[in-house]
Amino acid sequence: MVFVIVEPCIGSKDQSCSEVCPVSCIHEGEDQYYIDPGECIGCSACETVCPVNAIFDEDQVPEQYQAWVEKNAKFFQGGVTSAVSGKTISSSRPNGD
Ligand code: SF4
Ligand code: SF4
Repeated sequence: MVFVIVEPCIGSKDQSCSEVCPVSCIHEGEDQYYIDPGECIGCSACETVCPVNAIFDEDQVPEQYQAWVEKNAKFFQGGVTSAVSGKTISSSRPNGD
């Protein structure tokens, strides 16, 4: 189980989550914070402290925030091979028909 940060974080970014994460797997991006799916141990400490309820278990991400599951995975592409556990994330496809 890993956690994903979704839309409400944008514009907030108050860092409460990264301060409590025991494995320091929450990283600052340009617009929001992101959880490294290869490092997250699913402890839910971050979910508890987020003031805007922007953090969800990947299996419980509300419909309107599903795009963030992929957005989060893409943020770590290159450093993390298995994006979000159990889910295949489509990466950039090679050109050509
Ligand atoms: S605590 Fe919530 S709003 Fe703050 S950086 Fe973390 S996810 Fe974003
Ligand atoms: S669930 Fe735990 S390990 Fe995963 S990002 Fe949140 S605080 Fe860090």
